[in-house]
Amino acid sequence: MEFKKFKDKYIVRLDKNEEIVDTLKRFCQEQKITLGWVSGIGAVNRATVGLFDASSKQYYARELTGDMEISSLTGNISSMNGEVYLHLHICLSNIENKTYGGHLTAAYISATGELVVGVIDGSVEREFNPQVGLNTFKF
Ligand code: FE
Repeated sequence: MEFKKFKDKYIVRLDKNEEIVDTLKRFCQEQKITLGWVSGIGAVNRATVGLFDASSKQYYARELTGDMEISSLTGNISSMNGEVYLHLHICLSNIENKTYGGHLTAAYISATGELVVGVIDGSVEREFNPQVGLNTFKF
């Protein structure tokens, strides 16, 4: 991974075999980013994407393999208990141009990843919301 900073935005390149969520989390820790947004494209060959079932309050994850384009990677950076908290969603398209998408747990770069990270000066914490079953923004 390499990046260049332009005022409050970073252009980030992820490299082959890097895992997106882990790499991005480490990047935010090192750059001391507590609040922001992420937008990206690129290519992966393995990913775990999920759906949060609002009635059972459980995540259902699916493992996807094979060459896939990141049609869209989007999400936000906040914090929980003083730690960087990433919430990322991804849309992936395969050789047939069929897309699968959902909550991103992990994805491995097969060629390159091109992200824009925007920094917001401030911080927003999350806390577990038992009614929803998710860690939601706390204001
Ligand atoms: Fe989600």
